[in-house]
Amino acid sequence: MMRFSFNNYGYGMDNVGVILDYGVEGKENEIEFDKATNEFIKAIVFAGAKRNIPFVSLKVTGFARFGLLEKINGHEKLSEDEKSEWLRVHERIDRVCNAAYENKVMILIDAEETWIVEPVNELTEKMMEKFNKERAFIFNTYQLYSCGTLEFLKEACQIAVSKGYILGAKLVRGAYMEKERARAKEKGYTDPIQPNKESTDRDYDDAVIFCLQNLDKLSLFIGTHNEKSCLDAVNYMREHAISAGNASVYFSQLYGMGDNISFNLAHEGYNVSKYLPYGPVLDVIPYLMRRAEENTSVTGQTSRESQLINKEIKRRSGIKH
Ligand SMILES: Cc1cc2nc3c(=O)[nH]c(=O)nc-3n(C[C@H](O)[C@H](O)[C@H](O)COP(=O)(O)OP(=O)(O)OC[C@H]3O[C@@H](n4cnc5c(N)ncnc54)[C@H](O)[C@@H]3O)c2cc1C
Repeated sequence: MMRFSFNNYGYGMDNVGVILDYGVEGKENEIEFDKATNEFIKAIVFAGAKRNIPFVSLKVTGFARFGLLEKINGHEKLSEDEKSEWLRVHERIDRVCNAAYENKVMILIDAEETWIVEPVNELTEKMMEKFNKERAFIFNTYQLYSCGTLEFLKEACQIAVSKGYILGAKLVRGAYMEKERARAKEKGYTDPIQPNKESTDRDYDDAVIFCLQNLDKLSLFIGTHNEKSCLDAVNYMREHAISAGNASVYFSQLYGMGDNISFNLAHEGYNVSKYLPYGPVLDVIPYLMRRAEENTSVTGQTSRESQLINKEIKRRSGIKH
């Protein structure tokens, strides 16, 4: 079997799909949420007509007031107005998921802060139960940097089986580590994040293997720039005769990051798509700046990639001269 590596920077975007990621956040009123709903439906119809846009991603905070989600997560009693407000959030997400189902586009529901995770999971599970009967159209996101997420994923798989739907499992390590640790310290509760990088890595890789072992019950979306995690997944697939293009396994990196991973995987026939933020410039630039600030891992990956790009430039100029 040929050894797989991510060192070649010579391949391009061929066969790499796009995930539309509407980069607008921090909106807090119903008019904006309704506007976002219509925007998403437009994007889904657009994606449905294109072969290379299999997914649209969304954040529940694009459709709901953060304070409301926080209150539900904290099991606080909702006023009558808040109950109707929560119902309207369900209706918006339901409309979006229904459009996705009708247009055969998959929806990735992104994970955000742990202090709003319960209502996000509740909503997502309802949508999976409704729309994932024949195949996974709706994916929940599992952040393996949180203690207990691996067990939660396994339970989610059992629940899906018992309720007769296919689980959509998007696996990430998690992007809000600094924020999570700072809040836990400030408020004096136990830090929900794994004690170190090694434990996050172990749970991430175990989660990938668990999913690959259960492809009859779920669809797997591997969202990472970690080369070893991708390589382990590829090796497992090869060893267990899971074809590269298996319709239940997707790899993904963010646009402009991990291109060496995306391009090499796509070249070998794996399903690969890049998260592509779009939206009004005034919203998208601050959105990207916040993502970069939140994510300390950006620096390491970027320097690894610039080394590979330099190597490729040298290789190409060598060919010319
Ligand atoms: C396609 C895609 C979609 C994504 N969607 C989401 C999403 O919906 N929600 C979300 O939260 N993130 C999301 N992310 C970001 C993701 O969670 C990671 O922050 C980012 O990808 C870096 O992790 P890595 O696996 O790529 O690489 P690595 O560089 O191997 O891992 C870095 C990550 O490891 C963890 N880590 C680092 N140091 C420690 C430590 N000391 N202790 C414990 N853990 C540690 C952190 O999660 C850190 O981000 C997405 C990423 C991709 C590629």
